[in-house]
Amino acid sequence: MASSSTVAVVGTGIIGLSTATSLVAAGYSVDIFTASLPEGTTSMVAAGLWYPYKVQPIERALPWSEHTLAEFRKQAAAGVPGVRIQPMVEYFFFPKQDPDWAPMVEGFQWLPSEGLPEPFQAAAEFKVPVADTALYLPWLQESLEQQGVVVTVKKLASLAELTQQYSVVINCTGLGSRELLGDQELFPIQGQVRKMGPLPTSEDKVLLVDDAGTLIYIIPRQGDTVVGGTAVEGSWKCEIDVELADRMKQDAQVLYPSIEQLPTLANQAGLRPGRSSVRLERESIAEESVLIHNYGHGGAGITLCWGCAQEVVTMLQNLGI
Ligand SMILES: Cc1cc2nc3c(=O)[nH]c(=O)nc-3n(C[C@H](O)[C@H](O)[C@H](O)COP(=O)(O)OP(=O)(O)OC[C@H]3O[C@@H](n4cnc5c(N)ncnc54)[C@H](O)[C@@H]3O)c2cc1C
Repeated sequence: MASSSTVAVVGTGIIGLSTATSLVAAGYSVDIFTASLPEGTTSMVAAGLWYPYKVQPIERALPWSEHTLAEFRKQAAAGVPGVRIQPMVEYFFFPKQDPDWAPMVEGFQWLPSEGLPEPFQAAAEFKVPVADTALYLPWLQESLEQQGVVVTVKKLASLAELTQQYSVVINCTGLGSRELLGDQELFPIQGQVRKMGPLPTSEDKVLLVDDAGTLIYIIPRQGDTVVGGTAVEGSWKCEIDVELADRMKQDAQVLYPSIEQLPTLANQAGLRPGRSSVRLERESIAEESVLIHNYGHGGAGITLCWGCAQEVVTMLQNLGI
């Protein structure tokens, strides 16, 4: 029988940690259960760029992204570890329309086509948040623990293990929900990145090419520089492809020669939780229990996290909890 007034959050990726943080800020008492601490999550592999990427439905993703952008701006101004606002340039092989999110970001403008590196025909410049997850996730966990949140490491075989003890359970298990719930709509989008030493200043630009099947990014962060990447739908492969890691560096160097001298800190691979749509909804179980799912954020968990976390809080408040 569910009785505790404490909310149980499952998962310590960016979605679990942001959800737990927003719940605590709204006055809820929270316990966290997780199969792995932040170091072992997909969120730790993430490049940490605010950019709505491989996520559906876009009409829900945009307001979540906008909320997250505002939260990151506040956190960067407050000096939260790992969070910075950085200039970014995105290159295209062919001219494009403004993206849906162009009005949200600071300083969005198209650059003159003359002078762009070959073979690009268009480029947009703007400012975006970048979260160095290696600094940010441990900081979020530590802040929660300082506020009394207990993190228990336990792989759940079923959410019923918690719904019998807690009247409110929030499921933030990412791709883990495929096994935990049998959600066959979830699929991996495999990505490999090369993490290199940090570039000297926070003014170093993020560079992105995501056009006509080419994906190249260089993301200077507080503690490192992320060079990528790949996005292979349906692949569960987490072993590092060494040849690919070298090729990624070579491709990136053409656009960003200063990375050549940086030491390689790690090559990593992770599985984005792909889904036809983010699952952020209440599931009806027993009347006295509330189970809310918050998973399936694809390539945009960092980009959506604070908006989704706020929606969970609003859902509970609307239920009078
Ligand atoms: C190479 C790469 C680059 C990326 N770059 C970006 C980027 O620049 N910007 C961006 O917005 N997104 C990016 N992403 C996507 C982003 O990483 C994901 O959307 C995000 O990490 C999903 O977060 P999550 O908390 O839902 O899942 P996860 O980080 O996977 O966390 C899931 C948590 O649930 C726990 N769990 C799972 N199953 C169970 C169980 N049965 N019992 C208990 N606990 C369980 C896990 O232990 C873990 O703690 C990238 C991803 C990859 C792979």
